[in-house]
Amino acid sequence: MDPNQNKQNRGDGQKPQNFGQNIMIIIIAAVLSMFLMSWGSDMMRDRSEEEVSYDQFYEMVESGEVESVNIGDWQISISVKADSKNYSPLIHYYTVRVEGDEQFVPMLLQSGVTINQQKPDTTGFIWDILIGLVLPFIFIFLIMNFMMRRMGGSGGIMGVGKSNAKMYMEKETGVTFADVAGEDEAKESLVEIVDFLHNPGKYRSIGAKLPKGALLVGPPGTGKTLLAKAVAGEAKVPFYSLSGSDFVEMFVGVGASRVRDLFKQANNTAPCIIFIDEIDAIGKSRDSRYGGNDERENTLNQLLSEMDGFDPGRGIMVLGATNRPEILDPALLRPGRFDRRVIVEKPDLKGRVNILKVHAKDVKLDETVNFDEIALATSGAVGADLANMMNEAAIMAVKNGRKAVSQQDLFEAVEVVLVGKEKKDRILSKEERRIVSYHEVGHALIAAVQKDAEPVQKITIVPRTMGALGYVMQVPEEEKYLLSKKELWARLVTAFGGRAAEELVFDSITTGASNDIEQATDMARAMVTQYGMSEEFGVMGLAKTQDQYLTGRTVLNCSEETAAQIDQVVKEMLKKAYEEALQILSENRGVMDEIAAYLIEKETITGKEFMEIYRRVKGISEPGTEAAEEETVAAGTAAEAQAEGPEEP
Ligand code: ADP
Ligand code: MG
Ligand code: ZN
Repeated sequence: MDPNQNKQNRGDGQKPQNFGQNIMIIIIAAVLSMFLMSWGSDMMRDRSEEEVSYDQFYEMVESGEVESVNIGDWQISISVKADSKNYSPLIHYYTVRVEGDEQFVPMLLQSGVTINQQKPDTTGFIWDILIGLVLPFIFIFLIMNFMMRRMGGSGGIMGVGKSNAKMYMEKETGVTFADVAGEDEAKESLVEIVDFLHNPGKYRSIGAKLPKGALLVGPPGTGKTLLAKAVAGEAKVPFYSLSGSDFVEMFVGVGASRVRDLFKQANNTAPCIIFIDEIDAIGKSRDSRYGGNDERENTLNQLLSEMDGFDPGRGIMVLGATNRPEILDPALLRPGRFDRRVIVEKPDLKGRVNILKVHAKDVKLDETVNFDEIALATSGAVGADLANMMNEAAIMAVKNGRKAVSQQDLFEAVEVVLVGKEKKDRILSKEERRIVSYHEVGHALIAAVQKDAEPVQKITIVPRTMGALGYVMQVPEEEKYLLSKKELWARLVTAFGGRAAEELVFDSITTGASNDIEQATDMARAMVTQYGMSEEFGVMGLAKTQDQYLTGRTVLNCSEETAAQIDQVVKEMLKKAYEEALQILSENRGVMDEIAAYLIEKETITGKEFMEIYRRVKGISEPGTEAAEEETVAAGTAAEAQAEGPEEP
């Protein structure tokens, strides 16, 4: 379970809890105001008006049916006599006034019609306007006001621009540095910041300038928000937590005035910490490359000037967090603003073990649990993933009626987080099962045959919710920070194992390899353009990283001809890798058939079972059955022998 989750939710503010509810309210309000509008116009119609032509009006007057008239600007309202034969006194007749009719008044006087000069039906008219036009507006206003409150923005429309910083202020975040694991360097620099807040005098007396702000930078889910809360928890000072998007409003000038108010309040409660999460929402570079926006620029300018304005000795610390530092406006990163950059990296092996431990604090574990193994299997996972996995494992244990979480639960949770839940209701046809089995065994077998690839942990052909029909779970023996060209090449060949197996066994190919192809192509491209691993281009850098922490996407940085050449080189590489995959599999056809048969029957095969079949078919002795010293030698020579092309049984 995640002990911080509740605090998180509270801290992240008054976001709409239930969006469906909001939509319901909008619909009800819309229906209501439509009803009111039609009611208003119904009232107009209910008073039964009837237009008569000007000539007809003359006839009415002349035949003595008219009691009185009201002369308006455009209209003449006619009240007929109660004893009128041809016209109903219940109906309001009117006619359009004709300008310049000189006979008009004398004619009326002659017939003894009372003339009223005041505007007819003014009250009714106003009432119509009121109901038909103004009321719906009031309604819309009220609804919007209500919505804004619910959205946790300002105090409704009237409160636009008024400070809502109070709403974001948390006296106690309840998070401490102990809740954050695997980010020791980041913690260290933040500990300093806490110290600044506690003893500003100590630094000032030496003449050291205190930093005004620090920017937490790193991939999503690594604990940036958590770290900021931990700083507040450790520093025991008020903590204003806002998200960059809170400043981005539909009303002009609101963002800037919110910034102003925020700093004003902070000034009153110093020492304190202002935390602006996802600061890229306002801090985007003002150059138009990323799309300019005046409102956002105003907000940013206000933030910059506020940061320049306050005295660092007051004990206000501005923390920002972002996973896209490269799009931030350079002015934000200048000394005197966010002058410190705290990198919050993806955790390494030891970090992952520690994060698992933090999240296992309140979870009962049985004796099988081994966090080192889990950490090894989750290379690349961030804190949020691991917290999620721990929780999934606990749920899994409860579902299976156990009292404690086992290693098995944890491994399954890893799979759930990485590839989704098992999709038992998707039944593959017999033929599809065979294809998927061979495809996955193809990957695994190549990984096992190549000395440089990672051994497999498990292969399964149970479909998963995230789209995989089957997959191979690989666990490295150790965490790698550097990859050699040889290892990358091995990965490339392994990626093609699936497609190669399909072609070899079924003599036909399927769409199942699309993901493999995409990955292999990306990898080959990176080898050529980023890692300088091709003979054709040597160590020339041909691509630029765009957002290092978010997607790691790159864009080509070369001429068009070079781009075309790159395509050619990549194509050749991929072709070669695919051919190598084909060759390895055809040389190991016997093993592949045996393992695939097992997989088709059992749906899942563990790495151990896999290796048993592998060794049996290839006639390699099992480790542990012979004397310890000889064993390694035997395994070594066997591996070498098979690279030459072993005899197939
Ligand atoms: P970010 O802001 O970097 O996207 P968060 O701080 O929101 O990530 O992390 C989300 C959740 O993941 C946290 O609430 C916490 O439960 C868990 N988590 C992330 N990183 C760590 C870490 N280093 N140590 C412990 N828990 C972590
Ligand atoms: Mg965050
Ligand atoms: Zn595949």
